[in-house]
Amino acid sequence: MSFRASVITLFPDLFPGPLGASVIGRGMEKGAWSLEAHFLRDYASDKHRTVDDTPSGGGAGMVLRPDILAAALDDVAPADDRRPKILMSPRGKPLTQARVRALAEGPGAVIVCGRFEGIDQRVIEARNLEEVSIGDYVLAGGEVAAMVLLEAVVRLLPGVLGAAESHADESFENGLLEYPQYTRPQIFEGREIPEILTSGDHGRIERWRREQSEALTRQTRPDLWARYTQKP
Ligand code: SAM
Repeated sequence: MSFRASVITLFPDLFPGPLGASVIGRGMEKGAWSLEAHFLRDYASDKHRTVDDTPSGGGAGMVLRPDILAAALDDVAPADDRRPKILMSPRGKPLTQARVRALAEGPGAVIVCGRFEGIDQRVIEARNLEEVSIGDYVLAGGEVAAMVLLEAVVRLLPGVLGAAESHADESFENGLLEYPQYTRPQIFEGREIPEILTSGDHGRIERWRREQSEALTRQTRPDLWARYTQKP
């Protein structure tokens, strides 16, 4: 079974969007993964197809109703569906490459895209939604966040990236940021490719790349560096 993504959204027409392009889109065409976008308003019960209401206790904006979202979730992911149910949310756990990798090893994901002020807390608890954030900033809706998550996951699925585009050395895969990359021309605006990279000495090149990765991580991501150096 290939990875199956189901997205619940107020803007199904935004999908597949960038997920239909390049290696990710080709992966879908090849059957490595599939995507369904479900329109939340289809689960509303009134003639205006209302999905939100004013926040209890007052305040700005609107809140997505729990009953409508629960109906959508129960239809899209019945009780025997083993896929994790994820709510894109700025207050969720930050998305990491480790979580991305774990998702890529599973059967797929059901992803809820929020809008407005947020979602009624009771449906988050009742349907055991895992809140996931893509960073410490606030977007207008969860659709772009869901695409970020899916793009990161799908590129790890078997058969999506060719051998030439392997991800073994990439940033985060070994706890470090990736070393700097170079290609032709040999001299660009007076800057040369580091001599070592054209030396043909693979041992030295590997050591140089490791040193560059370490220096870059130490400088720009002290949080990652601390975790890396504390590793047993
Ligand atoms: N009132 C909410 C708060 O302060 O936490 C923000 C709601 S935001 C305007 C609307 C929706 O965008 C959220 O429900 C969520 O689905 C999505 N969203 C916004 N920022 C996000 C982030 N950093 N990561 C994941 N989803 C995000």
